[in-house]
Amino acid sequence: MPNDHSAPPPFSAPYAPDDRAIADGLLRTARLDSAAERRVDHVATRLIEAIRANDDPLGGVEDMLREFALSTKEGLALMVLAEALLRVPDARTADEFIEDKLGQGDFVHHETRSSAFLVNASAWALGMSARVIQPGETPQGTIGRLTKRLGAPAVRAATRQAMRLMGSHFVLGETIEAALARAQSQASQHRRYSFDMLGEGARTAADATRYFFSYASAIAAIGRTAGKTPLPDRPGISVKLSALHPRFEAVSHARVMTELVPRLIELAQQARAHNLNFTVDAEEADRLELSLDVIAAAFRDSSLAGWDGFGLAIQAYQKRAGAVIGYVDDLVRRLNRRMMIRLVKGAYWDTEIKRAQERGLDGYPVFTRKAMTDLNYVACARQLLALRPRLFPQFATHNALTVATLLELAGGEGGFEFQRLHGMGEALYAKLAEDRPGIACRTYAPVGSHRDLLAYMVRRLLENGANSAFVALAADEAVPVAELLRRPADIVGGADHAAHANIPLPRNLFRPQRINSRGLEFGERAALDQLISAIAAEPTFASENAADATPAQASAAISAAREGFRKWSRTSAATRAAALDRAADLLEQRTAHFIALLQREGGKTLDDALSEIREAVDFCRYYAAGGREQFGDGEAMPGPTGESNLLRLRGRGVFVAISPWNFPLAIFTGQVAAALMAGNTVVAKPAEQTPMIAAEAVRLLHEAGVPASALHLVQGDGRIGAALVAYPDIAGVVFTGSSEVARSINRTLAAKDGPIVPLIAETGGINAMIVDATALPEQVADDVVTSAFRSAGQRCSALRLLFLQDDVADRMIEMIAGAARELRIGEPADPSTHIGPVIDTEARQRLDAHIARMKIDAKAHYAGIAPPGNYVAPHIFELSDAGQLTEEIFGPVLHVVRYRANRLGDVLRSIERSGYGLTLGIHSRIDDMVEDVIDRLAVGNIYVNRNMIGAVVGVQPFGGQGLSGTGPKAGGPHYLARFATEQTVTVNTAAAGGNAALLAGGE
Ligand SMILES: Cc1cc2nc3c(=O)[nH]c(=O)nc-3n(C[C@H](O)[C@H](O)[C@H](O)COP(=O)(O)OP(=O)(O)OC[C@H]3O[C@@H](n4cnc5c(N)ncnc54)[C@H](O)[C@@H]3O)c2cc1C
Repeated sequence: MPNDHSAPPPFSAPYAPDDRAIADGLLRTARLDSAAERRVDHVATRLIEAIRANDDPLGGVEDMLREFALSTKEGLALMVLAEALLRVPDARTADEFIEDKLGQGDFVHHETRSSAFLVNASAWALGMSARVIQPGETPQGTIGRLTKRLGAPAVRAATRQAMRLMGSHFVLGETIEAALARAQSQASQHRRYSFDMLGEGARTAADATRYFFSYASAIAAIGRTAGKTPLPDRPGISVKLSALHPRFEAVSHARVMTELVPRLIELAQQARAHNLNFTVDAEEADRLELSLDVIAAAFRDSSLAGWDGFGLAIQAYQKRAGAVIGYVDDLVRRLNRRMMIRLVKGAYWDTEIKRAQERGLDGYPVFTRKAMTDLNYVACARQLLALRPRLFPQFATHNALTVATLLELAGGEGGFEFQRLHGMGEALYAKLAEDRPGIACRTYAPVGSHRDLLAYMVRRLLENGANSAFVALAADEAVPVAELLRRPADIVGGADHAAHANIPLPRNLFRPQRINSRGLEFGERAALDQLISAIAAEPTFASENAADATPAQASAAISAAREGFRKWSRTSAATRAAALDRAADLLEQRTAHFIALLQREGGKTLDDALSEIREAVDFCRYYAAGGREQFGDGEAMPGPTGESNLLRLRGRGVFVAISPWNFPLAIFTGQVAAALMAGNTVVAKPAEQTPMIAAEAVRLLHEAGVPASALHLVQGDGRIGAALVAYPDIAGVVFTGSSEVARSINRTLAAKDGPIVPLIAETGGINAMIVDATALPEQVADDVVTSAFRSAGQRCSALRLLFLQDDVADRMIEMIAGAARELRIGEPADPSTHIGPVIDTEARQRLDAHIARMKIDAKAHYAGIAPPGNYVAPHIFELSDAGQLTEEIFGPVLHVVRYRANRLGDVLRSIERSGYGLTLGIHSRIDDMVEDVIDRLAVGNIYVNRNMIGAVVGVQPFGGQGLSGTGPKAGGPHYLARFATEQTVTVNTAAAGGNAALLAGGE
């Protein structure tokens, strides 16, 4: 091992800083002198002209994208088809899928516009109907007729063939041997290669091992044919860390370091033995710090000393790119070694933007304007060029202006290389080789079977088809060359325009209505560490308000709430809303305090606790905003002249709010906030398992300005709840919990004389997910594991019953079980824990009993092992019939049922038969199928191609139907009104003598 002094301090840089500050620096250094700018124009123009003149007889992807642009229905349908068709094993689903996608576009008229081979090949499959089509026919009709004429197998085979062809455009070979042979046949052009073994990231230990061996055997094969030239003129391999570990995530840091670093060292040693270029690809921003820790630890290994082939990719769209270069340079200096650095712009921009929005971050880790990425790319390139020869820059781009600028900056031909992706940038680099034969270019060459290439191919299609992408613009003759020569600095304009005007900051996503709740990126070590220390510093709690109430206290609370109603209901909506907004702010300020409480009393993991606080914050702000709108001055109704008609909402009286332990803060706060906003006073009874959280929430609401007379807390178990509900003069009940208790509340209310009061009940469900053969197994595994096992399955939305199409069931079950095996169960305060305890011993015993029963009645696919305590490990059982599951099992137990592709109707019937209708998941690429299921099933929340938990306030209003609840949905636009009464006030404005307003109107 190297000496410790060779270890640099861990990488640290602001995760998502303000764009403006960065732009200032970038704009200051962006300009070259005018002679240099002219040279850049000249070179770039030559390259662009070469791209445009390219008439490769084999066609390029550019041709195809011009033909089926992603902004068209056809382009999108083609992309979805490309993403999934080749993995569908059964003919029936493949046919349905093809029909669904081809039905979405008008491929027919594309057939003859281009002579390029690729276009023709795709069009032949997708639009071969042109040869048989009659004027006036619809594409759907054509497919039907085609199928009749040629037979479904022929249409299917042709379409699959076209997809393969598209794939082979981007992939050098299906195996490393085939790829090497193809590379060697092109060796006359003196190309350097970096091979990449395709595949999705590992979800299971078996995946990670398979990828490891696939890299290892590729290195051996590449080494055998590598020849004798020295580095950098050697072939290479690119590896993805996410392929080598099933939990490559920041919270699993310790485990990743122990398990992944030795694997990476082993692969690097093998690469070293052949003196190859060994590059670690760059992945998502939240994994950057973890990646650098892994890379530094591997790179420092003394067995790699003296070898210059180790490298990594750095993404210039990330705001931290410059800091990463500084970090790597420091590392290399300390060890007196060299590294190869591939500078890319970055391939996951859309994912980064979405993740930052979902997580409620203060900013984006990536730029939001493409010109900023381009500017930063050049700035990073300068930094790298200045660090030669310690760092060997590898500029990966297909942008002619970027290439021309780098040539100008490099000031010579040595000490760096360009890189391109196989299937892209061919004409550009052919021209460059002609003009500047001394400049080296390496091709990144993906290797893999058809099934493995799909996700990669879609990335490339997106990259080529994006409106902002250079390759798309360069291919479009309608875009003048001068437009392509516009400098990023001119496009940005000034620092004030550095951020995209139409991409709001995550915090402003819901503006002007409200601000988004603040979240945190666990991939930012500084933020995570700070939060963890703040949580650890929270004292152990003992709340004086957590003791059970006596019946007399409960009665007193009801009377006091009745007293309080007069004043609170007359408090203006603006004042009530302001108190809720203040409560939201206070919750955000006390995040650490509430996380500590949620962990200690509710057994919540860090991720769950943070999400729950965010949900509570969102409830407060959402109902405040809705309340201002709905409970303000009232809504004027139309009517005849001479009178005014105003519809107003007002509070009903005393609301009893009964909430469960599984969201002891969010549901508790949501119910209370809505009832208060509507002008009611509230007697809240939280679950007996989580009294302290409720007590703290009430204290906070009081502090925020809700008068003590308006909100009363009554602790206790179900008996106290039943007593509260039975009081004669309560005005409504809001309840979340089991169907059984909801029914009993309903009966109590119905038995009372006096006004009939509303019951808003949110109850459970036997939630299903349907997965067909077009779904992506890795995505299904992620979403199933999250939906079924997160929060130890203690969410009412959690997945209980998974229907898998039998053609793909074995593979899916294997992957889901393998992914479940990688979850860590344990102490919730440990950030690496994925599954905490269940709520109490009673819950554990009930679950253990169910598991024991299932072990006899069903086939166990996975039975996890739980540590001692109230832990229940994930279990996966296969049932022969969905009817075997008759009740909601509130824990990490997943039940799987297989279905045949032609028996989807049976699946839907069995979901209907349960009588519940809370959440439903669908994983399919067949839109028709998805729409049919949505139409058919009365389910409150349906999630397509994603997980089915974690509804966001105001985004996915939440609540079920049938046995699952009464509605209206929590966090939805109709919720508040249910807590209110309506009042219409009609005033005869002409009563005092005549209709003055009408008469004054004139002509
Ligand atoms: C050899 C090679 C290896 C690669 N390895 C990796 C890797 O390890 N990791 C990785 O992530 N990518 C990798 N890539 C992919 C690479 O990121 C893209 O191919 C590259 O971004 C395209 O850049 P360009 O200069 O060719 O295109 P251009 O069209 O000039 O630029 C496209 C870039 O702009 C970004 N962009 C688009 N819109 C915006 C916006 N509104 N705001 C900010 N940025 C925007 C895109 O995300 C993309 O990064 C690699 C590419 C090559 C050629």
